[in-house]
Amino acid sequence: MIAQEPADLVLPNARVPVSMIARLDKFGGARDQDCVHGDLLIRNGRAERLIPTGPTGGSPWVVLPKLTECHVHLDKCYTISRMCDVRDGLQAAIAAQAADRVHWTQSDIRSRAMRGLEELISSGCVSVRSHVDWGRDDSPNAPSLAWSVLGELAQECSDRVTLQLAPLTDAEQIADPAVADAIAREIASNGGVFGVFVFDQANRRMGIRQAFEAADRHGLALDFHVDEGLDDELDGLEVIADLAIETGFQGPVLCGHACHLMNLDPEALKKLTEKLLRSNIFVASLPATNLFLQGRADGTPDRRGLTRIHELRAAGVPVVVGTDNVQDAFCPLGRHDPRQSLALAVLAAHLDPPFGTHFPMITTSARKALGLAPNHIDGAVIGDLIMFGAASTSEVLAGVSPPVRISAAFQGEFA
Ligand SMILES: [Zn+2]
Repeated sequence: MIAQEPADLVLPNARVPVSMIARLDKFGGARDQDCVHGDLLIRNGRAERLIPTGPTGGSPWVVLPKLTECHVHLDKCYTISRMCDVRDGLQAAIAAQAADRVHWTQSDIRSRAMRGLEELISSGCVSVRSHVDWGRDDSPNAPSLAWSVLGELAQECSDRVTLQLAPLTDAEQIADPAVADAIAREIASNGGVFGVFVFDQANRRMGIRQAFEAADRHGLALDFHVDEGLDDELDGLEVIADLAIETGFQGPVLCGHACHLMNLDPEALKKLTEKLLRSNIFVASLPATNLFLQGRADGTPDRRGLTRIHELRAAGVPVVVGTDNVQDAFCPLGRHDPRQSLALAVLAAHLDPPFGTHFPMITTSARKALGLAPNHIDGAVIGDLIMFGAASTSEVLAGVSPPVRISAAFQGEFA
Protein backbone atom coordinates (compact mmCIF):
# COMPACT_ATOMS: atom_id res chain seq x y z
CA MET A 1 0.00 0.00 0.00
CA ILE A 2 1.44 3.35 -1.01
CA ALA A 3 1.19 6.45 1.18
CA GLN A 4 -1.43 9.06 0.25
CA GLU A 5 0.96 11.44 -1.49
CA PRO A 6 3.97 9.40 -2.54
CA ALA A 7 7.15 11.14 -3.47
CA ASP A 8 9.29 9.72 -6.24
CA LEU A 9 11.19 6.65 -5.17
CA VAL A 10 14.33 5.24 -6.71
CA LEU A 11 15.44 1.62 -6.69
CA PRO A 12 19.21 1.77 -7.23
CA ASN A 13 21.24 -0.60 -9.38
CA ALA A 14 18.33 -2.20 -11.21
CA ARG A 15 18.40 -4.30 -14.35
CA VAL A 16 15.28 -4.85 -16.43
CA PRO A 17 15.18 -7.40 -19.28
CA VAL A 18 14.56 -5.65 -22.60
CA SER A 19 11.90 -8.25 -23.43
CA MET A 20 9.81 -7.04 -20.48
CA ILE A 21 9.59 -3.41 -21.63
CA ALA A 22 6.76 -2.20 -23.89
CA ARG A 23 8.36 1.15 -24.89
CA LEU A 24 12.10 0.64 -24.85
CA ASP A 25 12.72 4.04 -26.50
CA LYS A 26 11.11 5.84 -23.53
CA PHE A 27 12.46 3.63 -20.75
CA GLY A 28 16.08 4.77 -20.55
CA GLY A 29 18.96 2.88 -18.99
CA ALA A 30 22.28 1.65 -20.32
CA ARG A 31 22.25 -1.55 -22.34
CA ASP A 32 23.82 -4.51 -20.55
CA GLN A 33 23.46 -7.71 -22.60
CA ASP A 34 19.74 -8.63 -22.53
CA CYS A 35 18.89 -5.95 -19.94
CA VAL A 36 18.95 -2.21 -19.47
CA HIS A 37 20.65 -0.95 -16.32
CA GLY A 38 20.16 2.10 -14.13
CA ASP A 39 18.19 3.32 -11.13
CA LEU A 40 14.49 2.53 -11.42
CA LEU A 41 12.34 5.62 -10.98
CA ILE A 42 9.00 4.91 -9.30
CA ARG A 43 6.49 7.71 -9.66
CA ASN A 44 3.03 7.63 -8.15
CA GLY A 45 3.52 3.99 -7.28
CA ARG A 46 4.36 2.93 -10.84
CA ALA A 47 7.64 1.93 -12.46
CA GLU A 48 8.30 4.77 -14.87
CA ARG A 49 11.83 4.53 -16.31
CA LEU A 50 15.49 4.05 -15.59
CA ILE A 51 17.68 7.01 -14.72
CA PRO A 52 21.49 7.01 -14.62
CA THR A 53 22.90 5.05 -11.72
CA GLY A 54 23.68 7.22 -8.73
CA PRO A 55 27.00 7.19 -6.87
CA THR A 56 25.68 5.15 -3.94
CA GLY A 57 25.35 1.95 -5.95
CA GLY A 58 23.81 -0.66 -3.70
CA SER A 59 23.08 -4.33 -4.17
CA PRO A 60 22.08 -5.31 -7.71
CA TRP A 61 18.48 -6.21 -8.52
CA VAL A 62 16.79 -7.70 -11.57
CA VAL A 63 13.19 -6.52 -11.85
CA LEU A 64 10.50 -8.65 -13.51
CA PRO A 65 6.75 -8.59 -13.79
CA LYS A 66 5.12 -11.08 -11.44
CA LEU A 67 5.15 -14.53 -13.02
CA THR A 68 2.43 -16.50 -14.76
CA GLU A 69 1.95 -20.23 -14.42
CA CYS A 70 0.05 -21.44 -17.48
CA HIS A 71 -0.50 -25.09 -16.62
CA VAL A 72 -0.68 -26.95 -13.30
CA HIS A 73 -2.92 -29.57 -11.67
CA LEU A 74 -3.69 -28.36 -8.15
CA ASP A 75 -6.14 -31.23 -7.55
CA LYS A 76 -3.48 -33.90 -8.15
CA CYS A 77 -0.37 -32.41 -6.52
CA TYR A 78 1.39 -33.96 -3.50
CA THR A 79 -0.16 -37.41 -3.91
CA ILE A 80 2.95 -39.38 -4.94
CA SER A 81 3.72 -40.48 -1.37
CA ARG A 82 0.43 -42.42 -1.34
CA MET A 83 1.37 -44.43 -4.43
CA CYS A 84 3.75 -47.24 -5.12
CA ASP A 85 4.96 -48.80 -8.35
CA VAL A 86 4.27 -45.79 -10.57
CA ARG A 87 6.11 -46.51 -13.80
CA ASP A 88 5.61 -47.17 -17.50
CA GLY A 89 4.48 -43.82 -18.85
CA LEU A 90 1.29 -41.86 -19.36
CA GLN A 91 -1.36 -44.58 -19.22
CA ALA A 92 0.09 -46.06 -16.03
CA ALA A 93 0.16 -42.59 -14.47
CA ILE A 94 -3.48 -42.00 -15.41
CA ALA A 95 -4.44 -45.33 -13.79
CA ALA A 96 -2.41 -44.65 -10.63
CA GLN A 97 -3.86 -41.17 -10.26
CA ALA A 98 -7.41 -42.51 -10.76
CA ALA A 99 -6.84 -45.10 -8.02
CA ASP A 100 -5.73 -42.32 -5.66
CA ARG A 101 -9.12 -40.61 -5.93
CA VAL A 102 -10.46 -42.73 -3.06
CA HIS A 103 -8.52 -40.29 -0.85
CA TRP A 104 -9.97 -37.15 -2.46
CA THR A 105 -12.18 -35.82 0.33
CA GLN A 106 -12.97 -32.15 0.50
CA SER A 107 -10.28 -31.51 3.13
CA ASP A 108 -7.68 -33.58 1.27
CA ILE A 109 -8.20 -31.71 -2.01
CA ARG A 110 -8.34 -28.37 -0.26
CA SER A 111 -5.16 -28.79 1.78
CA ARG A 112 -3.09 -30.06 -1.16
CA ALA A 113 -4.41 -27.43 -3.59
CA MET A 114 -3.88 -24.63 -1.06
CA ARG A 115 -0.30 -25.78 -0.47
CA GLY A 116 0.30 -25.69 -4.23
CA LEU A 117 -1.30 -22.28 -4.60
CA GLU A 118 0.72 -20.83 -1.73
CA GLU A 119 3.86 -22.21 -3.35
CA LEU A 120 2.94 -20.50 -6.61
CA ILE A 121 2.31 -17.18 -4.84
CA SER A 122 5.63 -17.51 -2.98
CA SER A 123 7.40 -18.14 -6.28
CA GLY A 124 6.17 -14.75 -7.51
CA CYS A 125 3.04 -15.73 -9.46
CA VAL A 126 0.13 -13.38 -10.01
CA SER A 127 -1.79 -15.49 -12.54
CA VAL A 128 -2.27 -19.25 -12.65
CA ARG A 129 -4.26 -21.74 -14.70
CA SER A 130 -5.01 -25.07 -13.05
CA HIS A 131 -6.63 -28.04 -14.71
CA VAL A 132 -9.14 -29.95 -12.64
CA ASP A 133 -10.41 -33.49 -13.16
CA TRP A 134 -14.05 -33.49 -14.21
CA GLY A 135 -16.89 -35.92 -13.36
CA ARG A 136 -17.87 -38.10 -10.45
CA ASP A 137 -17.73 -41.88 -10.26
CA ASP A 138 -21.51 -42.13 -10.38
CA SER A 139 -21.99 -39.27 -12.83
CA PRO A 140 -19.05 -38.75 -15.22
CA ASN A 141 -20.52 -35.63 -16.82
CA ALA A 142 -21.23 -33.79 -13.55
CA PRO A 143 -18.80 -31.35 -11.93
CA SER A 144 -16.32 -33.06 -9.62
CA LEU A 145 -15.83 -32.31 -5.94
CA ALA A 146 -12.40 -30.91 -6.86
CA TRP A 147 -14.07 -28.46 -9.25
CA SER A 148 -16.11 -26.92 -6.44
CA VAL A 149 -13.23 -26.96 -3.93
CA LEU A 150 -10.85 -25.21 -6.30
CA GLY A 151 -13.60 -22.76 -7.26
CA GLU A 152 -13.83 -21.76 -3.61
CA LEU A 153 -10.05 -21.36 -3.37
CA ALA A 154 -10.02 -19.16 -6.47
CA GLN A 155 -12.53 -16.85 -4.79
CA GLU A 156 -10.77 -16.81 -1.43
CA CYS A 157 -7.38 -15.97 -2.96
CA SER A 158 -8.59 -13.57 -5.64
CA ASP A 159 -6.93 -10.58 -3.96
CA ARG A 160 -3.52 -12.27 -4.26
CA VAL A 161 -3.66 -14.30 -7.47
CA THR A 162 -5.87 -14.82 -10.52
CA LEU A 163 -6.63 -18.55 -10.55
CA GLN A 164 -8.26 -19.77 -13.77
CA LEU A 165 -9.77 -23.26 -13.72
CA ALA A 166 -9.98 -25.59 -16.72
CA PRO A 167 -11.82 -28.89 -16.32
CA LEU A 168 -10.01 -31.87 -17.73
CA THR A 169 -12.80 -33.32 -19.87
CA ASP A 170 -12.22 -36.14 -22.33
CA ALA A 171 -12.56 -35.62 -26.08
CA GLU A 172 -14.67 -38.80 -26.29
CA GLN A 173 -16.98 -37.60 -23.52
CA ILE A 174 -17.73 -34.24 -25.12
CA ALA A 175 -18.26 -35.68 -28.61
CA ASP A 176 -21.91 -35.66 -27.48
CA PRO A 177 -23.08 -32.09 -28.20
CA ALA A 178 -25.50 -32.05 -25.25
CA VAL A 179 -22.73 -33.06 -22.84
CA ALA A 180 -20.33 -30.50 -24.27
CA ASP A 181 -22.93 -27.75 -23.95
CA ALA A 182 -23.89 -28.66 -20.38
CA ILE A 183 -20.25 -28.70 -19.27
CA ALA A 184 -19.54 -25.40 -21.05
CA ARG A 185 -22.52 -23.83 -19.29
CA GLU A 186 -21.19 -24.95 -15.91
CA ILE A 187 -17.69 -23.67 -16.72
CA ALA A 188 -19.05 -20.30 -17.81
CA SER A 189 -20.90 -19.91 -14.53
CA ASN A 190 -17.61 -19.61 -12.62
CA GLY A 191 -15.42 -17.91 -15.20
CA GLY A 192 -13.47 -21.01 -16.19
CA VAL A 193 -11.82 -22.22 -19.36
CA PHE A 194 -12.95 -25.20 -21.49
CA GLY A 195 -10.22 -27.83 -21.07
CA VAL A 196 -10.06 -31.08 -23.05
CA PHE A 197 -7.76 -34.11 -23.04
CA VAL A 198 -7.08 -35.16 -26.63
CA PHE A 199 -5.10 -38.33 -27.26
CA ASP A 200 -6.06 -41.27 -29.49
CA GLN A 201 -9.80 -41.44 -28.77
CA ALA A 202 -11.87 -42.76 -31.70
CA ASN A 203 -14.17 -39.72 -31.59
CA ARG A 204 -11.51 -37.09 -30.91
CA ARG A 205 -12.27 -35.09 -34.04
CA MET A 206 -15.94 -34.78 -33.06
CA GLY A 207 -14.99 -33.98 -29.47
CA ILE A 208 -12.68 -31.17 -30.56
CA ARG A 209 -15.37 -29.76 -32.86
CA GLN A 210 -17.90 -29.77 -30.01
CA ALA A 211 -15.39 -28.04 -27.76
CA PHE A 212 -14.96 -25.22 -30.27
CA GLU A 213 -18.70 -24.84 -30.80
CA ALA A 214 -19.61 -24.95 -27.10
CA ALA A 215 -16.76 -22.58 -26.18
CA ASP A 216 -17.91 -20.14 -28.83
CA ARG A 217 -21.53 -20.25 -27.62
CA HIS A 218 -20.54 -19.63 -24.00
CA GLY A 219 -17.64 -17.22 -24.57
CA LEU A 220 -14.93 -19.52 -23.19
CA ALA A 221 -11.21 -19.81 -23.88
CA LEU A 222 -9.93 -23.27 -24.87
CA ASP A 223 -7.10 -25.31 -23.38
CA PHE A 224 -6.10 -28.71 -24.73
CA HIS A 225 -3.86 -31.44 -23.39
CA VAL A 226 -2.95 -32.72 -26.82
CA ASP A 227 -0.68 -35.33 -28.38
CA GLU A 228 1.02 -36.18 -25.10
CA GLY A 229 2.93 -39.06 -26.63
CA LEU A 230 5.34 -40.07 -29.36
CA ASP A 231 3.05 -42.42 -31.31
CA ASP A 232 2.77 -41.70 -35.00
CA GLU A 233 -1.04 -41.78 -35.16
CA LEU A 234 -1.55 -38.78 -32.86
CA ASP A 235 -3.06 -35.92 -34.87
CA GLY A 236 -4.92 -33.82 -32.30
CA LEU A 237 -2.88 -30.64 -32.72
CA GLU A 238 -3.51 -30.58 -36.45
CA VAL A 239 -7.24 -31.20 -35.97
CA ILE A 240 -7.37 -28.33 -33.45
CA ALA A 241 -5.55 -25.99 -35.84
CA ASP A 242 -7.84 -26.99 -38.73
CA LEU A 243 -10.97 -26.37 -36.66
CA ALA A 244 -9.67 -23.07 -35.28
CA ILE A 245 -9.18 -21.88 -38.85
CA GLU A 246 -12.50 -23.32 -40.11
CA THR A 247 -14.58 -21.87 -37.27
CA GLY A 248 -12.71 -18.56 -37.01
CA PHE A 249 -12.67 -19.03 -33.23
CA GLN A 250 -11.73 -15.74 -31.57
CA GLY A 251 -10.82 -16.75 -28.01
CA PRO A 252 -7.33 -17.78 -26.94
CA VAL A 253 -6.42 -21.43 -27.58
CA LEU A 254 -3.59 -22.96 -25.56
CA CYS A 255 -2.29 -26.40 -26.52
CA GLY A 256 -0.16 -28.17 -23.92
CA HIS A 257 2.39 -30.93 -24.59
CA ALA A 258 2.34 -31.41 -28.40
CA CYS A 259 5.09 -34.02 -27.98
CA HIS A 260 4.15 -35.65 -31.27
CA LEU A 261 5.67 -32.72 -33.17
CA MET A 262 9.04 -34.39 -32.57
CA ASN A 263 8.00 -37.15 -35.00
CA LEU A 264 7.36 -34.87 -37.96
CA ASP A 265 9.80 -34.49 -40.83
CA PRO A 266 10.73 -30.92 -41.79
CA GLU A 267 8.08 -30.62 -44.52
CA ALA A 268 5.23 -31.90 -42.33
CA LEU A 269 6.41 -29.70 -39.44
CA LYS A 270 6.44 -26.63 -41.69
CA LYS A 271 2.91 -27.36 -42.90
CA LEU A 272 1.53 -27.77 -39.38
CA THR A 273 3.46 -24.75 -38.08
CA GLU A 274 1.86 -22.59 -40.76
CA LYS A 275 -1.57 -23.75 -39.62
CA LEU A 276 -0.71 -22.94 -35.99
CA LEU A 277 0.34 -19.45 -37.03
CA ARG A 278 -2.89 -18.88 -38.98
CA SER A 279 -5.00 -20.09 -36.06
CA ASN A 280 -3.24 -17.96 -33.37
CA ILE A 281 -2.66 -21.00 -31.19
CA PHE A 282 -0.28 -20.86 -28.22
CA VAL A 283 1.78 -23.97 -27.47
CA ALA A 284 2.77 -24.83 -23.89
CA SER A 285 5.92 -26.84 -23.33
CA LEU A 286 5.67 -28.84 -20.11
CA PRO A 287 9.14 -30.30 -19.73
CA ALA A 288 8.96 -31.89 -16.28
CA THR A 289 6.11 -34.31 -16.94
CA ASN A 290 7.23 -35.00 -20.50
CA LEU A 291 10.77 -35.79 -19.43
CA PHE A 292 9.47 -38.22 -16.84
CA LEU A 293 6.77 -39.99 -18.88
CA GLN A 294 7.81 -39.92 -22.54
CA GLY A 295 10.17 -42.09 -24.52
CA ARG A 296 10.19 -44.89 -21.96
CA ALA A 297 12.02 -48.11 -22.75
CA ASP A 298 14.41 -50.36 -20.92
CA GLY A 299 17.44 -48.44 -19.76
CA THR A 300 18.33 -44.82 -20.38
CA PRO A 301 15.92 -42.77 -22.53
CA ASP A 302 17.12 -41.29 -25.81
CA ARG A 303 13.84 -39.59 -26.75
CA ARG A 304 12.73 -36.88 -24.35
CA GLY A 305 9.21 -36.03 -25.52
CA LEU A 306 9.48 -32.25 -25.56
CA THR A 307 7.71 -30.22 -28.17
CA ARG A 308 9.55 -28.28 -30.89
CA ILE A 309 10.25 -25.12 -28.91
CA HIS A 310 12.97 -23.81 -31.24
CA GLU A 311 11.17 -24.45 -34.51
CA LEU A 312 7.82 -23.09 -33.34
CA ARG A 313 9.36 -19.90 -31.97
CA ALA A 314 11.45 -19.41 -35.09
CA ALA A 315 8.26 -19.58 -37.16
CA GLY A 316 6.52 -17.05 -34.91
CA VAL A 317 4.22 -19.45 -33.02
CA PRO A 318 4.02 -18.24 -29.41
CA VAL A 319 5.44 -20.84 -27.01
CA VAL A 320 5.05 -20.70 -23.25
CA VAL A 321 6.40 -22.92 -20.47
CA GLY A 322 4.39 -24.50 -17.67
CA THR A 323 5.07 -26.62 -14.60
CA ASP A 324 2.32 -29.24 -15.09
CA ASN A 325 2.41 -31.96 -12.45
CA VAL A 326 4.10 -31.68 -9.05
CA GLN A 327 4.76 -34.72 -6.87
CA ASP A 328 1.98 -36.86 -8.30
CA ALA A 329 1.67 -39.92 -10.55
CA PHE A 330 2.65 -37.91 -13.64
CA CYS A 331 5.74 -36.28 -12.16
CA PRO A 332 7.03 -37.44 -8.78
CA LEU A 333 9.26 -34.40 -8.14
CA GLY A 334 9.23 -30.65 -8.50
CA ARG A 335 7.66 -27.56 -7.01
CA HIS A 336 5.18 -24.99 -8.24
CA ASP A 337 7.56 -22.40 -9.63
CA PRO A 338 7.56 -21.13 -13.24
CA ARG A 339 11.17 -19.99 -12.84
CA GLN A 340 12.24 -23.54 -12.10
CA SER A 341 10.19 -24.84 -15.05
CA LEU A 342 11.86 -22.39 -17.41
CA ALA A 343 15.27 -23.42 -16.03
CA LEU A 344 14.39 -27.05 -16.75
CA ALA A 345 13.34 -26.13 -20.29
CA VAL A 346 16.69 -24.37 -20.73
CA LEU A 347 18.54 -27.58 -19.92
CA ALA A 348 16.22 -30.02 -21.66
CA ALA A 349 15.62 -28.04 -24.86
CA HIS A 350 18.96 -26.20 -25.14
CA LEU A 351 17.60 -22.68 -24.77
CA ASP A 352 20.77 -20.62 -24.79
CA PRO A 353 21.63 -17.48 -22.79
CA PRO A 354 21.13 -14.59 -22.47
CA PHE A 355 17.89 -15.70 -20.83
CA GLY A 356 15.98 -12.42 -20.96
CA THR A 357 14.60 -13.46 -24.34
CA HIS A 358 12.99 -16.51 -22.71
CA PHE A 359 11.32 -14.78 -19.76
CA PRO A 360 8.17 -13.87 -21.77
CA MET A 361 7.35 -17.59 -21.73
CA ILE A 362 6.54 -17.30 -17.99
CA THR A 363 5.40 -13.65 -17.96
CA THR A 364 4.05 -11.52 -20.81
CA SER A 365 3.42 -14.26 -23.41
CA ALA A 366 2.05 -16.62 -20.77
CA ARG A 367 -0.45 -13.91 -19.76
CA LYS A 368 -1.58 -13.59 -23.37
CA ALA A 369 -1.94 -17.38 -23.63
CA LEU A 370 -4.38 -17.19 -20.72
CA GLY A 371 -6.35 -14.38 -22.33
CA LEU A 372 -4.95 -11.76 -19.93
CA ALA A 373 -3.28 -8.45 -20.77
CA PRO A 374 0.53 -8.75 -20.90
CA ASN A 375 2.20 -7.24 -17.83
CA HIS A 376 5.14 -5.17 -19.02
CA ILE A 377 7.34 -3.33 -16.53
CA ASP A 378 7.00 0.23 -17.78
CA GLY A 379 3.91 1.73 -16.20
CA ALA A 380 3.31 -1.26 -13.91
CA VAL A 381 2.06 -0.73 -10.39
CA ILE A 382 4.95 -1.85 -8.22
CA GLY A 383 2.71 -4.39 -6.52
CA ASP A 384 2.65 -6.20 -9.88
CA LEU A 385 6.45 -6.42 -10.00
CA ILE A 386 9.03 -8.54 -8.21
CA MET A 387 12.79 -8.31 -7.97
CA PHE A 388 15.58 -10.76 -7.44
CA GLY A 389 18.96 -10.13 -5.80
CA ALA A 390 20.97 -10.70 -8.96
CA ALA A 391 23.17 -8.90 -11.46
CA SER A 392 22.02 -10.84 -14.55
CA THR A 393 19.15 -12.89 -15.92
CA SER A 394 21.35 -15.99 -15.61
CA GLU A 395 21.56 -15.44 -11.87
CA VAL A 396 17.79 -15.05 -11.70
CA LEU A 397 17.20 -18.31 -13.54
CA ALA A 398 19.77 -20.13 -11.42
CA GLY A 399 17.14 -19.86 -8.72
CA VAL A 400 19.38 -18.92 -5.81
CA SER A 401 17.62 -15.68 -4.87
CA PRO A 402 13.93 -15.70 -3.90
CA PRO A 403 11.51 -13.15 -5.34
CA VAL A 404 11.22 -9.99 -3.25
CA ARG A 405 8.49 -7.36 -3.30
CA ILE A 406 9.72 -4.01 -4.62
CA SER A 407 8.25 -2.30 -1.59
CA ALA A 408 10.70 -4.21 0.62
CA ALA A 409 13.44 -1.88 -0.68
CA PHE A 410 11.65 1.11 0.77
CA GLN A 411 11.04 0.31 4.40
CA GLY A 412 9.16 3.16 5.96
CA GLU A 413 8.13 4.62 2.61
CA PHE A 414 5.15 2.27 2.29
CA ALA A 415 2.24 1.81 4.62
ZN1 LIG B 1 -1.37 -31.23 -17.59
